[in-house]
Amino acid sequence: MSDYVKELMAEVKAKNPAEPEFHQAVQEVAESLSLVMERHPEYRSAKILERIIEPERVLMFRVPWVDEQGEVHINRGFRIEMNSAIGPYKGGLRFHPSVNLGILKFLAFEQVFKNSLTTLPMGGGKGGSDFDPKGKSDLKIMRFCHAFMQELYRHIGPDTDVPAGDIGVGGREIGYLFGMYKKLRNEFTGVLTGKGLNWGGSLIRPEATGYGSVYFAAEMLATKGQTLEGKTCLVSGSGNVAQYTVEKLNSLGAKVITMSDSNGYVYDDEGITDEKLNYVMELKNVRRGRIKEYCDKYKNAVFTQIDPKLDYNPLWNHKAECAFPSATQNEINVKDAYNLVNNGVYVVSEGANMPTTADGVEVFLDKKILYGPGKAANAGGVATSGLEMTQNSMRLPWSREEVDNRLRMIMKSIHKTCVETAERFGTPGNYVNGANIGGFLKVADAMMDQGVV
Ligand code: NDP
Repeated sequence: MSDYVKELMAEVKAKNPAEPEFHQAVQEVAESLSLVMERHPEYRSAKILERIIEPERVLMFRVPWVDEQGEVHINRGFRIEMNSAIGPYKGGLRFHPSVNLGILKFLAFEQVFKNSLTTLPMGGGKGGSDFDPKGKSDLKIMRFCHAFMQELYRHIGPDTDVPAGDIGVGGREIGYLFGMYKKLRNEFTGVLTGKGLNWGGSLIRPEATGYGSVYFAAEMLATKGQTLEGKTCLVSGSGNVAQYTVEKLNSLGAKVITMSDSNGYVYDDEGITDEKLNYVMELKNVRRGRIKEYCDKYKNAVFTQIDPKLDYNPLWNHKAECAFPSATQNEINVKDAYNLVNNGVYVVSEGANMPTTADGVEVFLDKKILYGPGKAANAGGVATSGLEMTQNSMRLPWSREEVDNRLRMIMKSIHKTCVETAERFGTPGNYVNGANIGGFLKVADAMMDQGVV
């Protein structure tokens, strides 16, 4: 670790105690940027990275709500407005009991670089709540979403801050949030993305993160003259990102053998075909059931429950060529990374944000596999949110083909930026440096142009 990174990290840890995920995200970016700071001392003297690390604004608020039994609940709401140098704050809302300030700061920080890579004019933000939607009635979800928006509405707007979905926030939640925003502001604007198709949403937005992660993997494979056809793939998660990752992999002739949720994973050696995926979509999006029910329906499949005593996740210990972590942060540790590589995996495309621990990333870089970090590989979701904002501004919807083509082009362009930037800074094939530096340069130059604000 260079002296520059050591000093920076000492300050970050002192100023932001008990935020390990935020420290992890900053350290990875800072290490990549050491290469930039040597060539561009002007960024260092203008303290660009030190400014990016400090959110422009952090909102933390009480969300009181009453359930159908009359019981009062209090959750904590957050919005981190991280950086607006290149556009309005943009990033999802996460509803999950693990949500805290440090996790949202890591996500908002990553979002700044990711959004810059998309080529669209979007700053970085993230938000959410420790509210747990799992197993709750639609009425409880609606009441919570309305209560959350009763505070958030005064801080966001189509030219200020445009939230979207993330873990625990899908189409249903965006609907309730949008309804309350519209009522309070008395205006119909593109203030949230991931909206329903009848009321301002974009075709392909639900599919975009998963599709984009597969397009990114296809681009990485193309550098070796290969395609996804016939490849065996491991996918984690069974939510939005995982579902559309499987759909796109199937359409490109790959075979997916795993999916998971927070209770465990299913292994289906015959492959999770389109018909089986439809079952998973109905199970997860309509019945809101658990992934283990897959094995009641498809008897050849095996369910393995999460075992907290294990120091690795058996999902990552199957023979395959590609892995698509699409559940949550730090779901691949160093042991999992070795298991993946030893089982033949040489393509990892991260649908989730920061799913690999720092020492796990080191394994992928040492072994020189095709490793697409989340801020590049899963940028298709926010990119298509950007396309939804454009359609809202024009008040004109694009066709499925139009949006999908633009998504594909954006993923191609992000891949090209990563490859060229990694080469320019002396680390060819290192997509981590490519993404961190590629995302940073545009934001840094904008901040230089705008002065110290
Ligand atoms: P969903 O809520 O739709 O699905 C999340 C999935 O991950 C579920 O299967 C969930 O299982 C599982 N999961 C969540 N937390 C844990 C945990 N702690 N341990 C094990 N499994 C867990 O979310 P998304 O699919 O939208 O998001 C998945 C990942 O992709 C996240 O990292 C998110 O930040 C990232 N991402 C999402 C984008 C989007 O457009 N939605 C854009 C870019 C990145 P369970 O149901 O049991 O909780």
